[in-house]
Amino acid sequence: MSAAFSTFIALFAMSGVFSILLALYASFHKTRFTGMSLFVWMSAATAVYTFGSALELASSSLESIKFWIAFEYLGLPFISPLNLLVVFHYIGRERMMTPRAAAAMLAIPAMTSLLMLTNDLHGLVYQSIGLREDVPWILADFKMGVWYVVNGSYTLGCGVVGMWLLALHMRRTLNVYRKQTAVMFIGLFVPIFTSLIYTVNLTPHHIDPVPATMSLTNLLYCWAIFSAGMLTSTPIVRENILESMRDGVLILDPAGRLADYNKAASRMFPFLKPDLIGAGAADAFPKRHLRPEDADMAFLEAEDRQIEWVDGHEVRYYRIRSSPVYNRKGGAMAGRTVVVLDVTESVLLHRKLEKMATHDGMTQIYNRTHFVERTEKLILEAWQAGEPLTLALFDIDRFKSINDTYGHDVGDLVIRHVVHACKIYLGDRDVFGRYGGEEFALCMPGRTVENAYALLESVRRELASGPVSTSAGPVGVTASFGLVEARPGRPLKRLTKLADDALYRAKQGGRNNVQLAAGERLEEEDEAEPDLKKGAAGA
Ligand code: GH3
Ligand code: MG
Ligand code: MG
Repeated sequence: MSAAFSTFIALFAMSGVFSILLALYASFHKTRFTGMSLFVWMSAATAVYTFGSALELASSSLESIKFWIAFEYLGLPFISPLNLLVVFHYIGRERMMTPRAAAAMLAIPAMTSLLMLTNDLHGLVYQSIGLREDVPWILADFKMGVWYVVNGSYTLGCGVVGMWLLALHMRRTLNVYRKQTAVMFIGLFVPIFTSLIYTVNLTPHHIDPVPATMSLTNLLYCWAIFSAGMLTSTPIVRENILESMRDGVLILDPAGRLADYNKAASRMFPFLKPDLIGAGAADAFPKRHLRPEDADMAFLEAEDRQIEWVDGHEVRYYRIRSSPVYNRKGGAMAGRTVVVLDVTESVLLHRKLEKMATHDGMTQIYNRTHFVERTEKLILEAWQAGEPLTLALFDIDRFKSINDTYGHDVGDLVIRHVVHACKIYLGDRDVFGRYGGEEFALCMPGRTVENAYALLESVRRELASGPVSTSAGPVGVTASFGLVEARPGRPLKRLTKLADDALYRAKQGGRNNVQLAAGERLEEEDEAEPDLKKGAAGA
């Protein structure tokens, strides 16, 4: 017996032992992998085939060769279709394989086994099995039967479909699970490739090397089980969850490099491309999309943070929750998962609601409630800072008759016109609110009575300077104003009353004028001073 011969026998036997160990391990190991029993059966079928092959090769008579070939065929035809079924489970498509479909898939191998057992009667698998005369040792020689081709094609077909499914899966799968898929792919590819080599007669002594390669296939499965946890974990479940999540997930390694991301993450951050895997996550983010305050990338490690993602004119709001992942055993940090929630809709809705709650819908200035809230705070601040603050109320003159003459729409337009005219003269700190129908309020922190008076006079003159053009023609508008200064100890209610009294006096005094609250007066010298200066400069 040649050395090659003994090597093959040893390899075949080893392959068989591997398969048995694998079948035992798989059947005793608790797992949620749904294809487990199929995998056990596949390993068992492989064991039958490889042991049979070892014993066929070690046989010393034609009878014994025939016996072991028939034995091999109790396992061989099942390996490839079972493997395909395992693949279906692995890629999470087991539902495509109904029990009936799976049974149909195994019908051909069962037929093959049966035909092989009865081959002497019909010769459908092997037309003849004899001994080879061209070699000095005992080796089977055979002529293929019709069914041999059927079985061969079927085996090849299952293998190719399995590889195709794995290749498709690999493209969709998360990076961390790609290694496992690749291993399964190679496990399928190796026996197919070797049987092709055998078919074209390229193997030593024309010995079928496939049983030997089964040990490699099984070795790869072993590796997959132990290193990647193919059968001990349910990557497909985790992966499906990750991929079907609407939230983005980034996985970082302990050094902060990008280890993986899901589809949702690449939709949120379109710059994420597979070639960025392994790059520092903080460097990978294009800073031009981030607000300066987020450019430090601290959000990648923040427990809960909201960032703005600026893409041209569009701004999206993302809520980031980053949490460290620790090793199960030692507690060393294994990396980070960064979950990204798109909160744009809710942020915008929140802003809209906030605006609706604080602003007047028609004029977009503050509503009365919010105006009062803001003003109360500002009054307190002004007292504390010893800063002047003035409050004014104003009301459109004879607005009722505008409504009655031109209709409500024109009335609305006039209200908006008044707001617009007033805004022209307001500064950043002035707070403007719609106090009632056609009544407005101004809180002017930092403005003295003189300053505020000048401002109101400007607004009054602006309004009186010309009619508003409306669909009903030009409409003249004027307003009357009441002004008061906030002195320490005067609460808003009191100030409002004083301003309202002043406004009433303005109405009584013929409208279209500004009145100071009782006890207020303008500092004549202060007002005169700029004019004097102007005069001096002009002289
Ligand atoms: P006065 O010069 O004394 O202020 O006379 P007036 O006609 O403006 O007096 P009054 O305050 O009684 O009239 C206000 C009117 O404003 C009554 C109300 O029908 C109308 N009004 C209140 N809110 C709105 C609004 O949002 N749109 C329109 N078109 N009219 C409104
Ligand atoms: Mg009015
Ligand atoms: Mg009024």
